[in-house]
Amino acid sequence: KELNVPGEAKFKNRGVSYCTICDAPFFKGQDVALVSWGDLAREPVTILSSVANKFYWIFPSDKPIHDEEFIEQAKRVGKVVFMPNSEVVEIKGDAKVKAVVVRNKKTGEVQELPVAAVFVEVGYVTRSDFVRHLVDLNERGEIIADWEGKTKTPGVFAAGDIVAYPYKQAVISAAMGVAAALSATAYVMKIKGKPVASLVDWKAEAKK
Ligand SMILES: Cc1cc2nc3c(=O)[nH]c(=O)nc-3n(C[C@H](O)[C@H](O)[C@H](O)COP(=O)(O)OP(=O)(O)OC[C@H]3O[C@@H](n4cnc5c(N)ncnc54)[C@H](O)[C@@H]3O)c2cc1C
Repeated sequence: KELNVPGEAKFKNRGVSYCTICDAPFFKGQDVALVSWGDLAREPVTILSSVANKFYWIFPSDKPIHDEEFIEQAKRVGKVVFMPNSEVVEIKGDAKVKAVVVRNKKTGEVQELPVAAVFVEVGYVTRSDFVRHLVDLNERGEIIADWEGKTKTPGVFAAGDIVAYPYKQAVISAAMGVAAALSATAYVMKIKGKPVASLVDWKAEAKK
């Protein structure tokens, strides 16, 4: 999900990042901003607490997460500046991000914070509507599939970020794609009367 504020599109990959775990190391020792709240914020806050010099944690309500222990831990590390009741109104820079403009929704105060990066971790958009009649979706619109990529409809396989699996990484998606492709092949071959042993029975193999 994007913020849809001025400057965001211009500075994508020039300081605006949607993946803290991927891009935070590029801003090691620098001042940055994080827009995130709730459980989604756990990972980026933990990463920035280790990597950044200082980070502004921007969130729209009084508290960023309902976990006092987590908030206290972030405070103890001492790198976080809390920006409650706040929203980003603009991202500024020249060739790269130089500042984020933040408005306090309660007081109306507008601040320009000098930062080298703005990490946006406000969730994913799932585009699974076009298969909702074929598969089960969870509350986030992710497709329920097993580790072979099978969905509730025989012959319909799913793989990648769209699957209800918590880790959204390229190598995981690629591996899921391989599994789903092999499963699809096995499915078609079975229909053709030429079943392939896509799952190896190692105990049987050992006896051969
Ligand atoms: C900013 C960012 C940085 C990342 N950095 C890393 C990283 O450093 N390392 C890492 O491992 N992972 C990273 N990831 C995660 C990684 O990109 C994903 O896990 C991976 O791309 C998922 O692959 P996918 O094929 O499942 O989905 P996607 O790559 O999202 O591909 C889905 C494709 O389907 C298309 N599509 C959508 N709807 C339809 C439709 N109805 N018909 C046809 N096509 C459609 C989309 O346009 C898209 O091209 C990053 C993600 C983001 C957002």
